[in-house]
This record gives sequence, C-alpha cells and structure tokens, in this order.
Amino acid sequence: MPDVTLRVLILGGTGEGRALAAACAGMPGLTVVSSLAGRTSAPLRPDGRVRTGGFGGVAGLAAYLVAERVDAVVDATHPFAATITANAVAATATVNVPLLVLRRPGWTAQPGDNWHRVPDLASAAALAPELGTRVFLTTGRQGLAAFAGVPGCWFLIRSVEAPDPPLPEPSAVLRDRGPFTLAGERALLADHRIDVLVTKDSGGPAAAAKLIAARERGIAVVVVDRPAAAAAPTVATVDQAASWLRRQAGGRQPGQPG
Ligand code: NAP
Repeated sequence: MPDVTLRVLILGGTGEGRALAAACAGMPGLTVVSSLAGRTSAPLRPDGRVRTGGFGGVAGLAAYLVAERVDAVVDATHPFAATITANAVAATATVNVPLLVLRRPGWTAQPGDNWHRVPDLASAAALAPELGTRVFLTTGRQGLAAFAGVPGCWFLIRSVEAPDPPLPEPSAVLRDRGPFTLAGERALLADHRIDVLVTKDSGGPAAAAKLIAARERGIAVVVVDRPAAAAAPTVATVDQAASWLRRQAGGRQPGQPG
C-alpha cells in the first residue's frame, strides 16, 4: 500500500502560520509540522507538531526536507523574514518539493493618512527627525541600531522580546505583543505625546490599529517597504493556502492526477 499521506512543513512564526496549522488539523490525508525560529521565549504555539530552531541555511533545510520526506512546504513566515523565505525557495528547488508562499497583503494609505514610504530602516532613521521629536518605533526587536545616532528625538520602542542593543537614546522600551486595540493605541500615542510613528509594512489586522490612531491624531507615519517578493507561487489568505494543500493531497490519492 503506497503512503498517500501528504507530509507538510509550514514555516511559521505568524498568525497565518498558526491559522493554517489549525485548518490542516481537520484535513484528512495530511501530516503537518510547523517550524518556528525559536526567537521568542514564550511563542504562541501552532496546533499539531512543532519543531523549533534554524535548519542551517539552504543546505540544512534541503537535508531536512529529504530526511523527513516532506511533500509540500508552505512559507507562512513574516513578510520581513526574507532570509528564511529565500532559503525555502532555494532548498525546495534543490530537492524538487512544491513550495507555496502565504503572504498577507501590505497596508495601503487611506484618506487622511500622512505616510512616508522608505526602503529600509536606515532611511526611516534619517527621515524621522525631520517629521517630529517623539517617535514610536514599532519595527521589532532587530535593526534598532539604525536609530542609535539619531539626534533630537525621544523613542518609545515596542517589541515582544527585549530589543537588541545598541538602542537609540533617550528611549523607553515597552514589551508587548499584539493584537493591539484601537483604544490602547490611542491612549499610547496620547500618553507619550507621540508625533511620529515608524512601522514596517507588515500588513494584517493585528498591528493595524496604530495606523488608525495615527490618522486620527494627524501624525506622520514612516512606513518601511517590504523586501522583494519571493520568486515562488504566492497566495494572500489562509483559505487559499489550505485549498492548495487540499489539491496537493488529492493528487496523492491512488487513481488521481498529481
Ligand atoms: P529571517 O531573518 O528571515 O531568518 C533568519 C534565520 O532564522 C533563517 O536563516 C533560519 O535559520 C531561521 N528561521 C527563520 N524563520 C524560521 C522558521 N520559521 N523556522 C526555522 N528557522 C527559521 O527571519 P527573522 O526576520 O529573524 O524572523 C524569525 C521568525 O520570526 C520567522 O519565523 C518570522 O515568521 C517571525 N517573525 C518575524 C518578524 C519580522 O519582522 N522579521 C515579525 C514577526 C514574526 P537557518 O538558516 O539556520 O535555517
């Protein structure tokens, strides 16, 4: 009897990764492992089996796919996690395993927004002091060194884990994890008299309330553009990724075309 179970690897660390793992739990013909980088001390764990930690680059990921006889990979990592996505593209091509990228759409400016799009954190650091003096930094734990030499500003840094030094000074650190409410974001901007918000174009609802709160206050928002899109088939929703997996699983049933 041939093994008709589809062995799936979900590269996760996002709400979409967890939602897809949950959707897969109810699907016949699938065994799923979610992979987390292991950066957060108390990660939100997806349903089902989970492995944690890096694979060791492209070669390590390719070796894992072979050793675990993985039949399909969904890259549901964060839009700014460009290294693991590039590794997934290269490794799946090397061992000829189908790859789907699940990427939530980026945010788009609404009427009343005062957005300034920049290509990277260094550009955001150069622009922020031209727009205000009390800066809310929501770009995550990594890369804050870009803001370390910025003169004349006070920074409120929000991240899940303690941010990596060097940090900009003067600053305060707020350890918190989304989803964030509109009421909470309004209060934060008001209490700290924020006049510039810096964000990645992460997209999705969990971190979007700050954009509404910034629009209401009429403050400037520096939006860091995403890295280049992956060179792989890409979908925007968990439902689309689940349908793709269903088709992949269907292709393994005896008598069905692949
Ligand atoms: P990255 O720069 O693209 O990846 C750096 C290295 O971390 C990769 O080469 C890989 O190590 C390991 N890695 C990353 N994601 C992994 C995964 N899901 N499973 C196993 N290993 C993984 O990634 P990052 O930006 O540091 O993000 C790390 C994780 O946090 C990702 O899973 C991402 O979904 C999540 N996250 C990132 C952000 C963000 O803003 N970047 C925000 C929210 C969540 P090896 O080369 O050794 O395999």
